[in-house]
Amino acid sequence: MPYDQNNVFAKILRGELPNDTVFEDDEVLAFHDIYPQSKIHVLVIPKGNFVSFDDFTENATTEQVGKFFEKVGHIARDLDVDQEGFRIISNVGTFGGQEVPHFHVHICGGQKLGRMIEKK
Ligand code: 5GP
Repeated sequence: MPYDQNNVFAKILRGELPNDTVFEDDEVLAFHDIYPQSKIHVLVIPKGNFVSFDDFTENATTEQVGKFFEKVGHIARDLDVDQEGFRIISNVGTFGGQEVPHFHVHICGGQKLGRMIEKK
């Protein structure tokens, strides 16, 4: 799937939509989810044009992938979710329930979370 320059996270990165920033550097942006699913719900995105976790891990360099996940860890610790525990999630594609086609990791915490996957 080609990268869609009009997805909401691309607009956020271009400054066309506002966001509640938690952390930013040359490579990543972390911001609060607009519809939080837990007391703490932060999204971390790379600044490169990657559609999904699948695209990112296939096409980014090993250094980019390593640095990105290292930063996710730093951001989680800065949010103070590490002591009591938290969850990171990356939804991929249709079956994964991905709504925004720009790779992102959800950091969810601040409360006890439910089951990982709701059984249907
Ligand atoms: P996905 O389902 O793609 O894994 O998650 C996309 C997430 O982006 C959702 O949790 C949704 O609430 C969040 N989201 C969608 N649009 C916006 C927006 O304009 N601003 C922010 N901060 N979050 C958004």
